[in-house]
Formats: sequence, structure tokens, C-alpha cells
Amino acid sequence: MEIASAFKRRGLLFVLSSPSGAGKSTIARMLLVTDEGIAMSVSATTRPIRPGEVDGRDYHFVSDSEFDSMVAEGEFLEWAHVFGHRYGTLKREVLKTIESGRDVLLDIDWQGTQQLKQVDPDIVRVFILPPSMAELERRLRSRGTDAEEVIRRRMERASAEISHWAEYDYVLINNNAEKCRELVHNILKAERLKATRRVFLHDFVRELIG
Ligand code: 5GP
Repeated sequence: MEIASAFKRRGLLFVLSSPSGAGKSTIARMLLVTDEGIAMSVSATTRPIRPGEVDGRDYHFVSDSEFDSMVAEGEFLEWAHVFGHRYGTLKREVLKTIESGRDVLLDIDWQGTQQLKQVDPDIVRVFILPPSMAELERRLRSRGTDAEEVIRRRMERASAEISHWAEYDYVLINNNAEKCRELVHNILKAERLKATRRVFLHDFVRELIG
């Protein structure tokens, strides 16, 4: 038996959650560049597209009625209301990545994480905390794009999101993006080596020791 196939394993659903402004998107982007074995699941959303975003790359941007029919057709693994819009993880996105032999990176909120855990108890959940609420507010303000009212609501929403930290398997504090990226990558690498995920290892070991 070839070593490579002996080490084949089931793809992993790797969830990253954090309040907005804690640096999650930066870390996700860095992780995707560092590790070719993981790909992002592109969610569907009803929120309007932002400047610089690309439909199909950042999200699948859909209308309310399109989202309704996707829910009715059972196209989602999970979906939730976030900031007054709907967001959902598409079954086909996850399957496409798993079938390509890669792990799936999901940038979803605590509500989606809870639902996904019900669907697949084997998911890995990572929560990223900001160093402080003052730093979080500073980061949100430094983007310079949001109105005062939006910042206030995002801070409220951040507290609500953070209150779910203990439901996650791993919790990190993002003091430094590169250090945090490295820790997230270490978690991913260790999770890949878990004996329970190495489904074909039994055959390999049987050949090794007879
Ligand atoms: P944004 O609109 O800033 O891109 O994302 C807002 C929030 O929605 C983020 O906290 C993000 O994690 C969450 N989100 C993005 N996609 C999904 C999804 O498919 N499902 C759920 N439950 N949350 C999502």
C-alpha cells in the first residue's frame, strides 16, 4: 500500500468565529495562503455587496427571495440572521471542497457554529478574541468606513458574540496577526493528525506489523 493513500482521511470542517474587528478575516486569508490543504467555504448572503468584494469569491450575493428558495430547497447546512441580513453555509460548497480532498474553512458566527455542530459533531471550532474591547473599538474605527451608530451596534454585537467563547474547542487572543495565524495553523495541523480522523490507518498498520 502506498503511504499517501494510507494517510488519507476525512476532510475536516474548521470553523473560525470572532467578533468583527478581531482580525479573523486577515487570519483566514493568511492561513489559506500558507496551507494549500484547506479552502474557504463561500457562504450565501442577502447583505449588499461592498466595494472591493467579488460575487462568488467573497460571498454568493443573493436576493431575499433567492435566499428563501434556497432554504426551502434544503441547500444550507446552517443559516442565521447577522446584522439584519441572512448568511448561510451551502452544502454544495462544503462537498466540493471535501471531494477535492481538502479541509474546509468556515468563517461563520456562533449561531451557525451551534447548528453545524448538530449536523457534524466532528467539526473543529476556533474562537478569536481581541486583546481588549478598547482595541476592538479602535480597530473598527480605523477602518474609517462605518458611521458612529454602526460602530455602536458592532460593539454590542461583539459583546454578544464574545459571550459564546466557551462553546468553542480552542480560544485565542489576537495580539499579533502572524502569531495568531501560526497558532491557528498549529491547531489545524494537530487536528489533522488525530487518530480518529485517520480512517485508513488501520490497513496501513496491519500491513506494517502483519
Ligand atoms: P460580514 O458581513 O462582515 O462579511 O460578516 C458578518 C458576520 O457574518 C461575520 O461574523 C461572519 O462570521 C458571519 N457569517 C458569514 N458567513 C456566514 C454563514 O454562512 N453563516 C453564519 N451563521 N454566519 C456567517
